[in-house]
Amino acid sequence: MEQIRNVYCVGRNYKLHAAELGNELPKQPMIFMKPTHAVVPLDQAEIVLPYDRGEVHYEAELVIRIARDYRPGAGADELIDGLALGIDFTLRDVQTELKRQGHPWMAAKGFMNSAPVTPFISFPGIDRLNETDFTLRLNGEEVQRGNARDMIFSVQTVIDYIAGHYGIGAGDLIFTGTPAGVGRVQAGDKFELYWGSERLGACMMK
Ligand code: ZN
Repeated sequence: MEQIRNVYCVGRNYKLHAAELGNELPKQPMIFMKPTHAVVPLDQAEIVLPYDRGEVHYEAELVIRIARDYRPGAGADELIDGLALGIDFTLRDVQTELKRQGHPWMAAKGFMNSAPVTPFISFPGIDRLNETDFTLRLNGEEVQRGNARDMIFSVQTVIDYIAGHYGIGAGDLIFTGTPAGVGRVQAGDKFELYWGSERLGACMMK
């Protein structure tokens, strides 16, 4: 994997997913981060997760890679060089408790191996992105289907927002949010991630 710098993630970026967890829709992009140590290859790998801290949930997401430094007015097609699919593994019970207490999400989202990413394909452009569904199969059965055109905040809006508040540059990854259908992960599960009809990666849970 190439050198990764910051790993930004967008929370609640699809209406139906916000609704399934009973969350209100955000008025501006809701950004959180994962440590780079959370990122592992999603490429026939076995992935070890912590099952002793309540339920672990899967969240399949489009992942974009930024190729160059940002300048105001730069378009997404110009800034992004790679597209992958990733899973934002989440300790859901831990997160619920953190939300209740008003604490940061790190313990629920930032644990090791919590951000597996498939190999990158060259970025097909925003138009193609909006025409192509991505899907997650769990043990052979489709459990999530999403499309960038259903995002509450578009890829361009998310990039501009992150750039304006936190900075963005070459090597940064953005997990762009998960569509509805999140659910529980158990040891022995197999996940496969598809971009259109193309399988970008698969992994086994240990
Ligand atoms: Zn997510």
